[in-house]
Amino acid sequence: MGTQTQSELRCPRCGYDLRAAPEPRCAECGLTFPAEQWESGVLRDSVPSCLDGCDPWQPHQVLWASLCDLLRGIASPRRMLTTLALRGPAWSAWLMLVVGTGWVYVIVSIFVAVAINEHCGAGPYVAVKSALLYISPRLTFVSLFSGVPMLPLVLHSANLRLSPPPRVVMRRLGMYWLPVFASYSAAPIVLVALFVPDFHFNLFMPALGLGGIIVLPRSASCRDQAPRGFARRVVLWMFLWVAVVLLLGSSCQPRNLEPPFWVYF
Ligand SMILES: [Zn+2]
Repeated sequence: MGTQTQSELRCPRCGYDLRAAPEPRCAECGLTFPAEQWESGVLRDSVPSCLDGCDPWQPHQVLWASLCDLLRGIASPRRMLTTLALRGPAWSAWLMLVVGTGWVYVIVSIFVAVAINEHCGAGPYVAVKSALLYISPRLTFVSLFSGVPMLPLVLHSANLRLSPPPRVVMRRLGMYWLPVFASYSAAPIVLVALFVPDFHFNLFMPALGLGGIIVLPRSASCRDQAPRGFARRVVLWMFLWVAVVLLLGSSCQPRNLEPPFWVYF
């Protein structure tokens, strides 16, 4: 085992001291570790997602499981990144990306529709149609894609307790993380839209950045082993992220909550 230099080796699930363990298995909670983790001495928990356990051909199961996984990820993005089972069916990650983002879109639409109804004097039908077809798709798109420049940071080997993470694993974790990031990005701007009567997207675009500032330390805190140059990477990726948000935001957002004329037909 390559961990002789490490002062301690603990089970990531229960904290049991594994230095004297004869096999790659925790005697306390029964968690087993793959050979490569046992040899590198970087151990991680392995919890299957709700989607991993559902039947992909049952739409109600997929909807429910993806919502559960999204809420779990929102509750603790870091916990999701450091404990999600690395091996799972490929469709599960795709479903999380697509259906999880779908949930973000639906939740954003509800809030935006209420805001339009409240501030623009539009009827419920116009408000819902404008939210679903005009504002929410753009807002969800910007929220989701502004997370892409953050991926190299949160999928960093030290952050994931993996050394080094294989590409297929990074893809799976990234697909689970992006909808969670989109929720954090969209939440502040949607709340501002709800409570500020004279809402302008360009004026309140930094609210989208606020979501990123909240979620990033919660996703990539690197408490245990901060890799070299981590702070520099954070600053660099923050700059890139702000650039993406401003570029995407200014190019495809509507100016305010006013429904476009075609919504009335
Ligand atoms: Zn244990």
